[in-house]
Amino acid sequence: MNTDQILKDLQIIVGREFATNSPEDLYIYSQDPGASLPRPVDFVVMPKTTEEVQKIVKLANEEKIPLVPMGGGLTLSGLIIPVKGGIVLDMKRMDQVIEINELSRYALIEPGVSTGQLLAYLNEHHPDLQPAIPDAPPSATIAGNVLIHGSGYLSQKYGDHGAIVNGLEVVLASGEVVKLGSCAVSDYWFARGPIPDLVGLFLSSFGTMGIVTKLSVQIFPKPKFREIVFGLMKDEENIPNLLLEITTKEFIEDVILGKQDKPEWMKGYIFFMVYITGDSQEDIDAKIKILKKIYRKNGARYMKATQKMIDLYIEKPIFASGAADFRKGGGFEYVGANMPLEKIPEA
Ligand SMILES: Cc1cc2nc3c(=O)[nH]c(=O)nc-3n(C[C@H](O)[C@H](O)[C@H](O)COP(=O)(O)OP(=O)(O)OC[C@H]3O[C@@H](n4cnc5c(N)ncnc54)[C@H](O)[C@@H]3O)c2cc1C
Repeated sequence: MNTDQILKDLQIIVGREFATNSPEDLYIYSQDPGASLPRPVDFVVMPKTTEEVQKIVKLANEEKIPLVPMGGGLTLSGLIIPVKGGIVLDMKRMDQVIEINELSRYALIEPGVSTGQLLAYLNEHHPDLQPAIPDAPPSATIAGNVLIHGSGYLSQKYGDHGAIVNGLEVVLASGEVVKLGSCAVSDYWFARGPIPDLVGLFLSSFGTMGIVTKLSVQIFPKPKFREIVFGLMKDEENIPNLLLEITTKEFIEDVILGKQDKPEWMKGYIFFMVYITGDSQEDIDAKIKILKKIYRKNGARYMKATQKMIDLYIEKPIFASGAADFRKGGGFEYVGANMPLEKIPEA
C-alpha cells in the first residue's frame, strides 16, 4: 500500500484537515470504550457529503483497503475498530437534520446526527414530538443505533429501533447510491413500502452492505406525563410471565430489567423499570395500580421511585456513561441481547 499517496488522495476528497494517519489520531480510533483490545487503523477520514463518501468507497475499492463506518463509536463491542486495518470512515461531519415532517411524523437526517442532537432539535422546534433513542450517551448517533437494532425509549411501544427506519440512502461497495423505501419513488420518506423492503439488508450488517448517508426515522407524539414504576423480585423463573403481562398493557413505553450488586440493597434482586405514560396524574396513578397488581401476582414488589431515581432515569438519562468506560476502570459491555422471553431467566 502506498500510504503517502492514499493519504494525499483522501485529503483531495475531503480536505486536508479531515483525513489523517498521524499516530495520535490513529491511536484514538484504534479502540473504543468497551473491553475489546486495540487494533491497528491505517487512516481516518471524515466526509461531509454523499459524493465524498462515494469517492472514498471507490478509492478503497481500487486500493483494496477495508472500510469501517463509525458513528459515535459507542457500541462498546469493537464494531468500529477495523479487524484487518484500513480506513475508519468517521461520519460525524454529516450532521444535518434535513427535514422534520410533522404530518407524516418522520425525521430525515444525516448519519452523523447524534441522539442528543435530534432530541434537542425536537425539543426546540417541535416540542410535541420525540424520537426513539437508546439509554446511551447522547453522542451516540441515531444511525449507529438503528443500524444495530438498538433499543431504549419507546421500544416496547413501537418495536426495536431498527423498526423505526422509514428509508435509507446508501452508498454501496461499488460507489453507487441507492435509495430504499418510499423515498425511492417519491419526495417523501414516510414508509419502507410500497417497493420491496430491502432496508433489512442494511440493519445489523455493521456497514458491510454499504454506507448509510441519509436516513428517515419515525418520530412520535410526546406524552404529557411520564413515570417510572420500579419493581424488585428474587425468582428469575417469574420474569417471563411478568414481562408478558406488563407488555400486553398498551401504556408501557419501555421496560428495563437487570441485576446488580451495588448499591448494597440491590444485591440478590432483579429490578424492573417500567416506563409508563399518560394524559394526567390520575391516569398515571391508575396505571401504577394496574402494574402493582401484576407485580404482586408474579412475586414482585413495587417500589416507589425516589426523586433522585426519576432525575437519573427520566430527566437526565445519561447516567450510565460515566460508569461505562473500561479505560477509566469502570465498564460494561452492551451485548444488544435479542432473545425470546423463555430465555431470560437463563440469561
Ligand atoms: C453507557 C451506555 C449505555 C448504552 N445503552 C444502550 C441502550 O440502552 N440501548 C441501545 O440500543 N444501545 C445502548 N448502548 C450501545 C450504543 O451506544 C448505542 O446502541 C448507540 O446508539 C450506537 O450508536 P453509535 O453512533 O455509537 O454507533 P457506532 O458504534 O458508531 O456504530 C454502530 C454500528 O453501525 C455501523 N455504522 C455506523 N454508522 C454507519 C453508517 N453511516 N453506515 C453504515 N454503518 C454504520 C458501525 O460500523 C457499527 O457496526 C449503550 C452504550 C453505552 C456506552
